Amino acid sequence: MAKSRILIQLDPDPHASVFDAVVGVDAGVEHLLQYHSVQPEQVRDLVHGAMFTRSPSDLSSTAVFVGGSNVAKGEELLRQVTKCFFGPMRVSVLLDANGANTTAAAAVLAAAKHVELKGATATILAGTGPVGQRAARLLVRQGATVRLASRTLQKAEETCQVIRTRVPEAKIQPVATASSSDTAAAIAGAQIVIAAGAAGIQLLSAEVLKQTTSLKVAIDLNAVPPLGIEGIGVMDKAKELGGVFCYGAIGVGGTKMKIHRAAIEKLFTRNDLVLDAEEVFALGQELV
Ligand code: NAP
Repeated sequence: MAKSRILIQLDPDPHASVFDAVVGVDAGVEHLLQYHSVQPEQVRDLVHGAMFTRSPSDLSSTAVFVGGSNVAKGEELLRQVTKCFFGPMRVSVLLDANGANTTAAAAVLAAAKHVELKGATATILAGTGPVGQRAARLLVRQGATVRLASRTLQKAEETCQVIRTRVPEAKIQPVATASSSDTAAAIAGAQIVIAAGAAGIQLLSAEVLKQTTSLKVAIDLNAVPPLGIEGIGVMDKAKELGGVFCYGAIGVGGTKMKIHRAAIEKLFTRNDLVLDAEEVFALGQELV
């Protein structure tokens, strides 16, 4: 008889994310075990509890989800989780702290609907945050050239360096966007712009958007007014505006949710999956 599906939710925040829990249940998880305020040194015992309770042939019915609001902490928890595994003694694990992997995947998939990514130029405004950084990683892996923008050139360069470490062949360049004329220059000639700035921060004006003739797709991931790209509605999904296909945060959010649920379901197909940005993106490609 198939064992019941158990998802172990590891979250570094004081309360384990309700959002992540609801998605888990909606994805068919039968038992959700939630752990909050999880510190890296506590991971081993928690994961051992998951690994050593069922026979290897039943371990595909146990999985780990690493979430919470802090992506850097989530990455460290994921590292600690994977360190516990050996031989067949492992369970599948998904990292989606702050929705960063599923959101970046959904944004890049939206862009891919309108532009051949290989050979395209994409500008990621405020690309230094976890979502922008992942979108950049996915785009360079697909053969796009990325201009990664930040208010400070040094921060942009540091982020580009992190991406080059993971993807040595990455075509990526840092760009400083301290003014709207800098932003106009950063998107001039690009086919894709993704605004990945913090909530409630406008990064691109309608005026500059209108003047940029090369753009084919513009994606804003900020759902909190003022939105990241002026003139794009939060619900927009492939809405055409002067020849540019536009997406708002909730417009992208539908695909994000679909990928999140599918990623949880996928965890229970085998016991050796580690789903980070690239794997989540590949799953999204199968869905859209
Ligand atoms: P974040 O880390 O909060 O911010 C990203 C970047 O925004 C920062 O690295 C910073 O870049 C820039 N920034 C911060 N404050 C700013 C200010 N006052 N003025 C101008 N730029 C500023 O963002 P994130 O967690 O990566 O998320 C990116 C966006 O995606 C957010 O709007 C978030 O709400 C949204 N999101 C959406 C979903 C969804 O389902 N649709 C899911 C997750 C996240 P520099 O310092 O380098 O300029």
